[in-house]
Amino acid sequence: MRVPRVATAHTSHQTDFMTETETIAYDVVVLGAGPVGENVADRTRAAGLSTAIVESERVGGECSYWACMPSKALLRPVVARAEARRVPGLGQAVRGPLDAAAVLARRDEYASHWHDDGQVVWVESIGADLYRGHGRLTGERSVTVTAADGKVTALTARHAVAVCTGTRARLPELPGLADVRPWTSREATSAQEVPGRLLVVGGGVVAAEMATVFQALGSRVTVLVRGAGLLPRMEPFAGELVAEALTEAGADIRTGTSVTSVSRDNGTVVAVTGTGDRLEADEILFATGRAPRTDDIGLETVGLQPGSWLTVDDTLRVDGTDWLYACGDVNHRALLTHQGKYQARIAGDVIGARAAGRALPQPGAWGTYAATADHHAVPQVVFTDPEAAAVGLSLAEAERAGHRVRAVDVHLSSVAGAQLYGDGYRGRARMVVDLDEGILRGVTFVGPGVGELLHSATVAVAGRVPVDRLWHAVPSFPTISEVWLRLLEAYRG
Ligand SMILES: Cc1cc2nc3c(=O)[nH]c(=O)nc-3n(C[C@H](O)[C@H](O)[C@H](O)COP(=O)(O)OP(=O)(O)OC[C@H]3O[C@@H](n4cnc5c(N)ncnc54)[C@H](O)[C@@H]3O)c2cc1C
Repeated sequence: MRVPRVATAHTSHQTDFMTETETIAYDVVVLGAGPVGENVADRTRAAGLSTAIVESERVGGECSYWACMPSKALLRPVVARAEARRVPGLGQAVRGPLDAAAVLARRDEYASHWHDDGQVVWVESIGADLYRGHGRLTGERSVTVTAADGKVTALTARHAVAVCTGTRARLPELPGLADVRPWTSREATSAQEVPGRLLVVGGGVVAAEMATVFQALGSRVTVLVRGAGLLPRMEPFAGELVAEALTEAGADIRTGTSVTSVSRDNGTVVAVTGTGDRLEADEILFATGRAPRTDDIGLETVGLQPGSWLTVDDTLRVDGTDWLYACGDVNHRALLTHQGKYQARIAGDVIGARAAGRALPQPGAWGTYAATADHHAVPQVVFTDPEAAAVGLSLAEAERAGHRVRAVDVHLSSVAGAQLYGDGYRGRARMVVDLDEGILRGVTFVGPGVGELLHSATVAVAGRVPVDRLWHAVPSFPTISEVWLRLLEAYRG
């Protein structure tokens, strides 16, 4: 555990730093130094508040070592090769297999070889104090940190405790599953070898991305999807196009299939499905959702349920408290790094304003003190080949929410920029127009290279830009952005 830096002008630690049981007082204590906790600390320090940040594993969190960064480092060569193969004159040059060892080595670089030194330096640079160990609430505004050597440090927070402890992979309750040593997203993103045969259980983003990676690196991948298709939270055509491409790449995708038992015999994984099929593989990845890391953080000491998602208002304050905040994955609003960091910026500013006695704008008012985008404008890119990128509501979600909407669809193959991008370009776009308000409720793009398009849609949805005004945002020729023009033309009819 790191002993806090000596108090400076901005801090007011009430301690002699020498005893183990002394309580150290800060303005703010942040539990969890993932991307979200780091950003809360950054904003509270910018507001002049002394801040302690507690981390039990690695500063940088899941995103840096077992999620966003390693997964995207693995996907980039896969997608780049696929795209190059579709460009006549270039395709021949990239016919061969990927160099799996080089791909994994590049991934290691992007996971910082699972060392967090660089991020520790960053925490120091913002003037926050890092405590290494397991943090637990022990009552209102109180936290203890238990270090690996058993040493316990008590912290108190004058203004706020922010819980940013993230999530872990959720595994189904299957008898004997632990003995099988299944992969979760952690083992998949940090794998040092490519299995010959890989079973992927799940149909969400992690399943689709990891199936894409390992199929391209040489595994024979079988994806077992309980539901009707991949990417169920997006427009149906997103999952259909990604599944089509994965199938063409050689993966076996079985929908409507759940695993009823799993075992490992002489190193081989055997999974039996609900339909009675018996599948063998070298590894099995369960990409079956996430669970909040709140089971052992002392929630019971403040009247909350251990293991629960933490429900917050738009200032990220936990319902029923005036000092406890929860940001990022742990509040279950949007399990994405960029959205958690957005919440963190807001929470940090709110904590700063409340500590200074400044009034916040009324709830619901437009401003930077309320995470309103969580409700209507969350962007997400799935980095498969083709990419799937969506913001806001799907058609089904908009209808369920009671909006009077119309979906406008176009094929991206009608766009010159997409045709130039690669031969046989396949992709689709949909905008969901609110007919009463004349704005966009949601936009989805599926196709190679569309991830970078998404922010244009996010600006339109978050900014509630009237559809008529979008006519005056003229996309450049010949870029894939001209899909906007096709969508507007199709809408006008
Ligand atoms: C395979 C995969 C790929 C992903 N790809 C993307 C992507 O491309 N883009 C994207 O936006 N999102 C992606 N995500 C989601 C993203 O990883 C999360 O949304 C993000 O990491 C959440 O950040 P967080 O800070 O809330 O939690 P985490 O990153 O989980 O960090 C929480 C931190 O808290 C620490 N902690 C937990 N309990 C305690 C405790 N009691 N005491 C002290 N410390 C504690 C943990 O050790 C951890 O460091 C991906 C997720 C997965 C699984």
